[in-house]
Amino acid sequence: MSYLLLIFAILVSGCGGQMMVKKDWSVIAHRGASGVLPEHTLAAKAAAHVMNPDYIEQDVVMTQDDELVVMHDIHLDTTTNVKKVFPKRARKDGRYYVIDFTLAELKQLKVSERFHLKSDEKVYPQRFPVFQSAFQIATLSEEIELIQGMNQSRNKNIGLYVEIKAPEFHKKVGKKILKKVVDTLHSYGYKEASDNVYLQCFDFNSIKALNNMTKLKLVQLIGENSWSESSTDYDYLKTSEGVKEMSQVVDGVGPWWSQLTAGGRATNFLKLLQKKGLTIHPYTFRKDQLPKTFSSYEEWIRHFTVDLKVDGVFADFPEETIALKSRL
Ligand code: CA
Repeated sequence: MSYLLLIFAILVSGCGGQMMVKKDWSVIAHRGASGVLPEHTLAAKAAAHVMNPDYIEQDVVMTQDDELVVMHDIHLDTTTNVKKVFPKRARKDGRYYVIDFTLAELKQLKVSERFHLKSDEKVYPQRFPVFQSAFQIATLSEEIELIQGMNQSRNKNIGLYVEIKAPEFHKKVGKKILKKVVDTLHSYGYKEASDNVYLQCFDFNSIKALNNMTKLKLVQLIGENSWSESSTDYDYLKTSEGVKEMSQVVDGVGPWWSQLTAGGRATNFLKLLQKKGLTIHPYTFRKDQLPKTFSSYEEWIRHFTVDLKVDGVFADFPEETIALKSRL
């Protein structure tokens, strides 16, 4: 082999095929464009839509009168002015729960940028000001109609990415949140696996139940057992048996990003997921909350999409994340 040819061969192998086979990946607007406007408001969803993500995320909880609203928490006191409007409606633990209020009552509340429960300090200091302007809690139907409406007016097909929050908590008081979410999605024309929607949940028993209720694509979210997010055993789901069991019911998995990388390399869990051909959408990538192990947002996103080849990312800043696609 000539000297030049050898250099050429080294260069080509050094590219590792990445240059030639550039993998496409999705951007999921996490709680809307939540880095720009208060999470889960219709304003945050409309802003996300014009950024052209692949999906816009909804977290769903149920009201006292069995309506579905788009909220991240089962509590109201870190994103609304509930304490001011309904000062006597806290439970013994001092918290205000969505499930204790009717939709008509919830519509009286102002939604704010997220703040800390005790200090009232903003969670993300550089984001939208607390209690500025006017935002309301939206129902799941209102949000679906917004996205479908904008899909029509902008000639787009941006998908939904619906998370059912705390199903065990809802079930304990007789709330049929799984059925209501499925019925709502079906009623808006999302019925088949080929439809542009994912249904996600942290609770594996609920995912298994959903598998018998709908043909829609399902995503198992993976937490850590220490978070007490649900009674699901995530340590088990991360084993080869767990991954095998999940692969029989879900299309994809939503892991915490740090479960996929260790020392700059893919973890065994990531390898198991990829071997099963599961779609992998890690959460949550925040431009203003960079992990210490990455020197820039671009480097963080590059590691996951180029090195680890995940299928998409949940991102609070969809605009900046989509802009990286053409550079990575
Ligand atoms: Ca979520």
